[in-house]
Amino acid sequence: MDEKRRKTLLYLVYGAIAVAFLLSLQLAHPFRPAEISYSDFLARLEAGEVVKAVITESRIEGVMRTGDDGTERNFVTTRIPNSDIEGLIQKMEEKGVQFSGKVENTFWRDLLYSWLIPIGILVLVWLLIFRRLSRRVGGSSPLSFGQSKVKIYDRSKDRVTFDDVAGLDEAKEELKEIIDFLRHPDKYRKIGARIPKGVLLVGPPGTGKTLLARAVAGEADVPFFSISGSQFMEMFVGVGAARVRDLFEQAKAKAPCIVFIDEIDTIAKVRGGIIASGGVEEREQTLNQLLSEMDGFDPQTGVIILAATNRPEVLDKAILRPGRFDRQIMIDRPDIKGREEILKVHARRVKLAPDVDLKVIAARTPGFAGAELANVVNEAALLAARKGKSRVDMEDFEQAIDRVIGGLELKSRVMSEKERRVVAVHEVGHALTASLLENADPVHRITVIPRGIGSLGMTMQLPEEDRYILTRRELEDRLAVLLGGRAAEEVFFGEVSTGAQNDLEKATILARKMVEDYGMSDRVGPLSLGWERAARLLMGEYSYGKEANYSEATAQLVDAEVKRIVLENYERVKKLLQENRDALERITEVLLEKETLEGEEFRRLLASLREEKRDLETPAAAEQWRGDQ
Ligand code: ADP
Ligand code: MG
Ligand code: ZN
Repeated sequence: MDEKRRKTLLYLVYGAIAVAFLLSLQLAHPFRPAEISYSDFLARLEAGEVVKAVITESRIEGVMRTGDDGTERNFVTTRIPNSDIEGLIQKMEEKGVQFSGKVENTFWRDLLYSWLIPIGILVLVWLLIFRRLSRRVGGSSPLSFGQSKVKIYDRSKDRVTFDDVAGLDEAKEELKEIIDFLRHPDKYRKIGARIPKGVLLVGPPGTGKTLLARAVAGEADVPFFSISGSQFMEMFVGVGAARVRDLFEQAKAKAPCIVFIDEIDTIAKVRGGIIASGGVEEREQTLNQLLSEMDGFDPQTGVIILAATNRPEVLDKAILRPGRFDRQIMIDRPDIKGREEILKVHARRVKLAPDVDLKVIAARTPGFAGAELANVVNEAALLAARKGKSRVDMEDFEQAIDRVIGGLELKSRVMSEKERRVVAVHEVGHALTASLLENADPVHRITVIPRGIGSLGMTMQLPEEDRYILTRRELEDRLAVLLGGRAAEEVFFGEVSTGAQNDLEKATILARKMVEDYGMSDRVGPLSLGWERAARLLMGEYSYGKEANYSEATAQLVDAEVKRIVLENYERVKKLLQENRDALERITEVLLEKETLEGEEFRRLLASLREEKRDLETPAAAEQWRGDQ
């Protein structure tokens, strides 16, 4: 059951409890007379306690004196049918009771007590529930399906600012421009500057994408409309599109403001997938509506659309076009420093014992995202409270970490020490190769923080300029960098792992292109073995296949050449890394400790290692090797 439905059910339960409570109250109404038995009534009459009585067909109501002090109280009793009324009247006269008779009409009273009040209460409760629900979903009436289930955050109450978001400095920097635009739209309007309409936040779950989006609204002090992709399409075909329309109408009325679409991948999956189900059409309608709304409005209106996804690979490219989500911001899991900062933010709310060292906790939680760290702090506080402590100490944190790791999803993400080392050596292998070869792009960042599924670490390179033409040497160096990870594993551990699969795939494709397309193999010659690119209609879909236009003999030669190029470069990298084994080892240690090394840091580290060991003039060695070829 999802969160929403559970909440609705909860309200229903509350409602039922309220009804039961009110009914019981009504039964014990303070103005209602005390109900006494007939025998009790007779006894009281005998004792002279009855002051007044009104006799009707079925009951006797009246006033009696009770207790020692003789306070007067209303009473009512049910008459026994056909009881001796004469005798009763005699008795009353005898005791001086003031009595009268009355023809009973209970219709209105019965109607009131047994129908109107209960129904009134029910209606009231329903109204309350619906009011709450419709306030939560932002619409006016709960029964209008076309209304988008937008969550609007109260600006003053739930305000989130950048202070609540730890780390993510690059993302914050990029979003500052948007905040400034939302604050002073006129400034931008006057000068004619175009502000992006849509910004896509991409990153694994729990890394603070939603939090960041809210913080942007908080910083700019504008309304924040939030809706999740899955909420667009819940019930009927056509509802999603209507909701999109409604959402944009609401937003335009409140501009400047932020519209946040969470889990946008649920509506913006690649279209025309293989599985054709009823949901596909609905999704496409919704997506088309979203795209046309985005294309349709003027960015100067001051509506900025933020969206988040943790599955960028499934997104339809149509949403990334200019004028739509043309800006993307990557949000990664935090490194050790980032984790410490996030812990700090969340620890503000709890009392810490002096022995708590957030740095140590950060070191103990590799692979944790912000959400899990928040969870650790909370679990630790719960544990401390249960044990009756007044402060959360280190022991609580240790236990909390174990507990959070126990949560299913994290288990796969928390690598063993051995695995982390393999990943680190592999990544440093790429980076070291890149910086030792003169034609490779400089290293931008190395990290051993797991990213998506299947990616355990990463080395990013940034080209210094846009390249349209690459030379053979540049391509070979590129190939070498791709192979650097695997080579480092072999040099360091004398053993290889599965971690290089993707690298090998890319390297093989690159080598094949060199031989087939670029004519860079001497044995094949400067031929472009132009594959014929043929479009074929395959099961209703165009597939762009290739057809070889050369003989089997050439094909064998091509295969051999591809293999030779890959192997030769692999050997070259291995030699290079063997000569720099020292640097490989030392940088790996630093990377394991810091988890992320920026390009600058990496180069400085390498330079200082070089300083220590002057005789390691490896680029020259690489040159020499190339000369041998
Ligand atoms: P996402 O949308 O990326 O899945 P959320 O923004 O919903 O992640 O994050 C869930 C929770 O994790 C947040 O409410 C916050 O408590 C915590 N959190 C995540 N990242 C951070 C961060 N960078 N700083 C502080 N808290 C964070
Ligand atoms: Mg989220
Ligand atoms: Zn690799």
